[in-house]
Amino acid sequence: MAAFEGLTSRLQNVFGKLRGKGKVSEDDVNEAMREVRLALLEADVNFKVVKDFIAKVKERAIGQEVMKSFTPGMVVVDIVNKEMTELMGGTQSKLAKASKPPTVIMMAGLQGAGKTTTSGKLARLLQKSNHKPLLVAGDIYRPAAIKQLQVLGEQIKVPVFSLGDKTSPVEIARQAMQQAKENGNDYVIIDTAGRLHIDEALMEELKQIHEVTKPDEVLLVVDAMTGQDAVNVAQSFHEQLELTGVVLTKLDGDTRGGAALSVKAVTGRPIKFAAMGEKIDALEPFHPDRMASRILG
Ligand code: GDP
Repeated sequence: MAAFEGLTSRLQNVFGKLRGKGKVSEDDVNEAMREVRLALLEADVNFKVVKDFIAKVKERAIGQEVMKSFTPGMVVVDIVNKEMTELMGGTQSKLAKASKPPTVIMMAGLQGAGKTTTSGKLARLLQKSNHKPLLVAGDIYRPAAIKQLQVLGEQIKVPVFSLGDKTSPVEIARQAMQQAKENGNDYVIIDTAGRLHIDEALMEELKQIHEVTKPDEVLLVVDAMTGQDAVNVAQSFHEQLELTGVVLTKLDGDTRGGAALSVKAVTGRPIKFAAMGEKIDALEPFHPDRMASRILG
């Protein structure tokens, strides 16, 4: 995958050497882990996350069982794979469902992270499994955000609830809930405003939307390309909003995507979806095991 190309080729190099060895000494493992550590740091994985990760792998890899196995190099690689899967959440984390419809999904994130696009993609995914989503145009500040959501809605034939840009997003959310109930929509996806940086007024507004709609999911949309900043953003949002999950976008981009590996560890919230392109169908449920295998190449 583009976002992990650099990391993948470096790890393949390290593991190629390990796999080739008949016997693996403690020194070999230490040397390999030193290289893995550097590769992860260079890919922009959070420093503390890397430290814990390497410690865990070493703890499992340096032991009699592994050293005595017939293929110790492969066993070590397998341990790295399993720990990386754990790092990204272990098992797939599905969307929550309200006991009584509609299930409400609130999207949050910085401007440009991909909230509006992802809202449309998520509606598309739900529609494909025979659900009836309602999209809500709650980003009234970014010029063109409403129109953008309406165009997406038209493209996939999903209704978009909008009251223009003169009504407050809290009121829009309140009326959208009403409309969803009247029209029998079983999912409500609320696109919200983002700023370039986190600010108090924005957080206050998001909290009020939360209060009014009582969302089953609060998904933070994170641009996987924003490096270490993505982790700080996730942490700040989580402190204020009680996130339930994360959507990683732009994994098709060609810069370092290592911050993606840190988000779960830092917020404790699972990555639920991954976006890999601008097209409406470019959103997939996130599978930590598959992602680990893709990263390891
Ligand atoms: P918002 O401000 O958070 O609502 O962000 P938008 O949804 O408007 O997205 C910002 C830009 O990122 C747009 O040009 C999108 O087409 C683009 N974008 C969103 N998701 C992806 C993705 O997964 N891959 C790529 N390459 N571009 C994306």
